Amino acid sequence: MRPPAAVIHSPDYACDIGPHVFPMEKYARVRQRLISGGWVSDHAILAPEPATDEALARVHTRAYLHDLAAARWTPRTTPSELPLSPAIVASWRLMCGGTVLAARQALERGAAVHIGGGFHHAFADHAEGFCYLNDLAVAIRAVRADAGVGRVAVVDVDLHQGNGTARIFQDEPEVFTLSIHQEHLYPVKERSSLDVGLANETGDEAYLAALADALEAVWAHAPELVLVQAGADPFHDDQLGALRLTFAGLERRDRAVIGGCVERGIPVAITLGGGYSRRLDDLVAIHARTCEVALELSGAAAA
Ligand SMILES: [Zn+2]
Repeated sequence: MRPPAAVIHSPDYACDIGPHVFPMEKYARVRQRLISGGWVSDHAILAPEPATDEALARVHTRAYLHDLAAARWTPRTTPSELPLSPAIVASWRLMCGGTVLAARQALERGAAVHIGGGFHHAFADHAEGFCYLNDLAVAIRAVRADAGVGRVAVVDVDLHQGNGTARIFQDEPEVFTLSIHQEHLYPVKERSSLDVGLANETGDEAYLAALADALEAVWAHAPELVLVQAGADPFHDDQLGALRLTFAGLERRDRAVIGGCVERGIPVAITLGGGYSRRLDDLVAIHARTCEVALELSGAAAA
């Protein structure tokens, strides 16, 4: 059965970043889990093209893109906490293309799941964290430029604030940025359209209540497309975080965000974002569940 929502991933996302807290292998593992669970067949998964120069230049500065193309350390690339190599840049550029494709597929099919993306700490002119290219921003500018899309919302439910995304769109009122995150934590905060900074040990119920309130502001923006950054790092066994959400709480989070879009007929594109749980199996399970929720809810709407 062809899934009503597009599923996007490329085996070429894999690249060597050495021993690192960021588990690059999670993408292939999530893909495999969706296939073995019968959610999508291997041949139905769409492989993106790398983001074009034109698409990247709508968000990132020329000087920064030159540094990336040469894979060289400069003041613009050194804020990265990843290694830098041509292969790594190529991988991030391909994932950036994956989020562009997800946004376009969401507009066509109502929903799209990108097994990748969500690099919300990348700024227009520099890298930050584990983020070289802000795929969310590149995708939004792409569909606003050539797909007739006006109003867009970013729903960023990663543990960390979407600081790069917030800064990129701070003077673009058509793009509403919501970030709900752990307040006392990396990064240095920028101002999103709406920031919900949560205390350590927030837990499921208080988190979900805060999210429900925040989503009202997203719906009030009347977006024609929603991009979700569905980070897995609010999980209770995450190495970097202390929000302490359970598996069930994270699924309820995803149902609130994705279900809210589907109920309102708003096209929704999902990216995976961060996640640093002690056990890789937990991380893969959380990301896969996000994808499954999107496939289930969009499928029910299409039936
Ligand atoms: Zn994160």
